[in-house]
Amino acid sequence: MSARVALVTGGTGGIGTAICKRLADLGHKVATNYRNEDKARAWQRKLQAEGYEIALARGDVSLPEDGQALVREVEAQLGPVDILVNNAGITRDTTFHKMTYQQWNEVIRTNLDSCFNVTRPVIEGMRARKWGRVIQIASINGQKGQYGQANYAAAKAGMHGFTISLAQENAKFGITVNTVSPGYIGTDMVMAVPEEVRNKIVAQIPLGRLGTPEEIAYAVAFFIPEEASWITGANLSANGGQYMGW
Ligand code: NDP
Repeated sequence: MSARVALVTGGTGGIGTAICKRLADLGHKVATNYRNEDKARAWQRKLQAEGYEIALARGDVSLPEDGQALVREVEAQLGPVDILVNNAGITRDTTFHKMTYQQWNEVIRTNLDSCFNVTRPVIEGMRARKWGRVIQIASINGQKGQYGQANYAAAKAGMHGFTISLAQENAKFGITVNTVSPGYIGTDMVMAVPEEVRNKIVAQIPLGRLGTPEEIAYAVAFFIPEEASWITGANLSANGGQYMGW
């Protein structure tokens, strides 16, 4: 397929890095955002050593003005964004009766508001060019709920509500909008969970192991080629069989 410009938010993280590499391997020009420049440049140099050129643009995706600025910066470096992967995300876990407004709000702003903040500046251009791919990285816990994650599960379920509305509005413009809902992946986010809790999680996964970032990157890449243009508004579960619902 022809080379496209892809913006992957949170590309410096565990899953984001694998998505950036996979899209670059497919011949696309890839960019991601950063908040800490030193950390991001070190990441960029590491990937350069592996043969990957990933562009960087500053921006906190929880802020609308940063979303605008980072999209404009990516456009200036690489051209109009054809593929957007809303991947940046955080957790602030605690049971709801102990949850502070700050824990609620940080997660909603980073995981859900970010979909508005970064998609809004790219969608008009995609509509004008009659081609686009918008892919949300949600979570198994947005599908089934999770003890201690009312904020995170609400944001992740909201991401799929965003997907299915945007899919309807933009289908006639050659734009597909889909969600990938990963199960537990062996990134820093999950390795930070205490080992005994992690062992209990693995015991609930029919495949008997955590997923890899590369397996999520594969699911993301599935939605991009022309052959996938009939698939829009889908929620692709990639979770080792842990949850088989919607
Ligand atoms: P990481 O913590 O490894 O990476 C998160 C990335 O998001 C980092 O690049 C981080 O940048 C960036 N980020 C966080 N907040 C912001 C912000 N406000 N503005 C800009 N960038 C931000 O997480 P994972 O790779 O594990 O997760 C990626 C996505 O996958 C998340 O949405 C997560 O919820 C989802 N997911 C992960 C699962 C897992 O098991 N790991 C399971 C299901 C879903 P910085 O370095 O600046 O913090």
